[in-house]
Amino acid sequence: MDHLLSTEPAWRQRTFLEALGDDFSSAVLPQPLPALHWVARQTDLADELGLAGWMSEPQALALLGGNAVPGVGRTRASVYSGHQFGVWAGQLGDGRALYLGEIDTPAGILEVQLKGCGLTPYSRMGDGRAVLRSSIREYLCSEAMHALGIPTTRALAVVGSPAPVQRETLETAAVVTRLAPSFLRFGHIEHFTHTADDLTLLRRLTDAVLARHFPACVEAPRPVIALLVEVARRTARLLADWQAVGFCHGVMNTDNMSILGLTIDYGPYGFLDAFDPGHVCNHTDTEGRYAYFRQPSIAFWNLHALAHALLPLVDGDQDAVLGALDTYKDEFALAMQQRMRAKLGLATAQPDDVALADDLLKRMAADRVDFTIAWRRLCSWRGGPTDHPDRRAMRDLFIDREAFDAWAARYDSRLAAEGSQDVERGPRMRRTNPKYVLRNHLAETAIRRAQAGDFAEIDRLMKILSRPYDEHPDHSADAGFPPDWAQKLEVSCSS
Ligand code: AMP
Ligand code: MG
Repeated sequence: MDHLLSTEPAWRQRTFLEALGDDFSSAVLPQPLPALHWVARQTDLADELGLAGWMSEPQALALLGGNAVPGVGRTRASVYSGHQFGVWAGQLGDGRALYLGEIDTPAGILEVQLKGCGLTPYSRMGDGRAVLRSSIREYLCSEAMHALGIPTTRALAVVGSPAPVQRETLETAAVVTRLAPSFLRFGHIEHFTHTADDLTLLRRLTDAVLARHFPACVEAPRPVIALLVEVARRTARLLADWQAVGFCHGVMNTDNMSILGLTIDYGPYGFLDAFDPGHVCNHTDTEGRYAYFRQPSIAFWNLHALAHALLPLVDGDQDAVLGALDTYKDEFALAMQQRMRAKLGLATAQPDDVALADDLLKRMAADRVDFTIAWRRLCSWRGGPTDHPDRRAMRDLFIDREAFDAWAARYDSRLAAEGSQDVERGPRMRRTNPKYVLRNHLAETAIRRAQAGDFAEIDRLMKILSRPYDEHPDHSADAGFPPDWAQKLEVSCSS
């Protein structure tokens, strides 16, 4: 009965990209790598998609390593453009990502992409490859974000090869399999506004995006405006999610912004350690354009670039477009308030809650308090004697204890005013303030071991990060303060 174990992915005959035609993507084959081996497989995701049996077979290794192609359709790379660090960069495109095709899954239609399987017509100066280090980072963080409840592209597997790849040092090649309902970026739309002679292609792409991904907007009186409103709304919620867990993307160029509001393109990302609102996780970002506190306004800037690209489709109606973008401001403020109330464990809404949250963040910033640890310790906050160990654990994080006490008194009375019960509030807060996030040093440890041929640490981390709100008492060290050596880690665009 072996056949029961193996279910091939259900490749769809005609994909979104194929239907769009050759102006939007090029048929291109993956370039084989020698001696493929599994680095990691996301078994929970494979199970969900009904692919677990298939993924234990050699055909899956060949396919997800780029040494074979599906029997259906043609593998493709798509063209897009984008604003990089605020400057129009012209044509970019999938320089090292390849669409294998689309599959029908219990979670709906998913596009399957391989990242790092060779040159495409859009590789420019690049080599079309990805290294083991960056592939593990993308794999772990995609799944960590999903488990935190944050919209993201998913990662199904990493396949490795001993093939050398030159970065700052000589590294080895790897291929990540990533999945999403769509990998379309703001830059796809921008491309056809800024490079095409007429509006035919821009219109075709926008109509296809509407039909496939935003059917409700098609019914609206002005579908393109409705699309912009919806993208603004999703982007606002995404940014609130990022800010609330202290996630820094690192390269928020418009070619790294998903039309569906997903977190996409995990490069030099990072989670906050000691809280510094100006934290810049990308070593290459010398001006701090993508610093943590700037992310929400950068997303708004990026939405303006998208809106500008859609303007020709709404007869240049700037007022309508700007009105649509206002959605972002309202939705972000609302989403952020909801996230912060939840983080504080407040069950009701009061006008002063924003100040209460802001003032805690100010205190945390002033004393460089660890972001994740502080919020998690706050989950154990309790009324009663001020010297209770659970209160002290939080207070001890601060240098200026008097200032903290002043804040704590306000928090206590706010909790008392809504009759908050410690036993009820704590568990609720622990479902929104994660104990575990993918700090750089955790990823780095898994990477160093993998580079030495031991992949067990990747699986161990994945197990913890896929339940980030649970206690996992045996792994509490991974929820502790980062070690001193973590401060010297530099993460750059090199990947
Ligand atoms: P990123 O900063 O990773 O979002 O990449 C920006 C652009 O450079 C995208 O068009 C990528 O496809 C392309 N790119 C990045 N690295 C490589 C590489 N090693 N080979 C080819 N293209 C690349
Ligand atoms: Mg990118």
